[in-house]
Amino acid sequence: MRKLVIANWKMHYGPVKAGAWIRAFRRERLPKDLDIGVAVPHVSLAAARASLGRAGVPLLGAQDVFWANDGAFTGEISPAMLKEFTLSFCLVGHSERRINLGETDEMVSKKAVALQKAGIQPVVCVGETEAQKKKGETLKVVRAQLAACLAGVKGDGASLVIAYEPVWAIGSGRPCSPLDAKNVHEAIREALVKKYGKPGSDIRIIYGGSVDARNVAEYVSTTHVDGVLVGSASLDPRAFGMLCRAALPA
Ligand code: PEP
Repeated sequence: MRKLVIANWKMHYGPVKAGAWIRAFRRERLPKDLDIGVAVPHVSLAAARASLGRAGVPLLGAQDVFWANDGAFTGEISPAMLKEFTLSFCLVGHSERRINLGETDEMVSKKAVALQKAGIQPVVCVGETEAQKKKGETLKVVRAQLAACLAGVKGDGASLVIAYEPVWAIGSGRPCSPLDAKNVHEAIREALVKKYGKPGSDIRIIYGGSVDARNVAEYVSTTHVDGVLVGSASLDPRAFGMLCRAALPA
């Protein structure tokens, strides 16, 4: 399975800086066997697409979507609108949206279903809070999130990615150890195969939470970890290029 590294800019970079980031990143030397994506704010999609041209690297993605294709939903962005930017993927259920905006598993599932109908691959984010981890509930929480978020969602390697992002590891500089990540990813894989049969074994499960150029190789080489989702360490295009090279050293 090809490894996947996704940059999540979060709420950084409007159109001007987004275009500059993409142009700088395209000058980076990148491993050929790595899939690389960048999830940009909606307002910067046009500039990012224009700077990318037809280039396949990085794959362009969004950070959120609404589930209806049009209608009276002030402020929302539909899958059909995202499709106009020829997006490859879209994050759904990031913990920052769950925490700050009250996004629920049910909403995440509706978004993922709508994205798949539009031909955009959802990257469904799951992960436990620090309190849940301390109570030993990590696997229970992650399995319950998966069951609810994947209701009605198709499962195969082309149409779905799962991101395991423990909430306490995001932006904290305290990453989950590769061994703990391996155990959670193994449980996610079991759940995917149980739900989808053999195609469930081709769905990439990536890890996110304080990944940087120094620790990325350890995650990417860990069994059951099919790539990484990178927030803070993706903001500098050259540093992110270095991270991609560190992920799959030649
Ligand atoms: C994220 O936002 O998905 C993330 C993993 O952030 P960070 O790399 O900063 O922990």
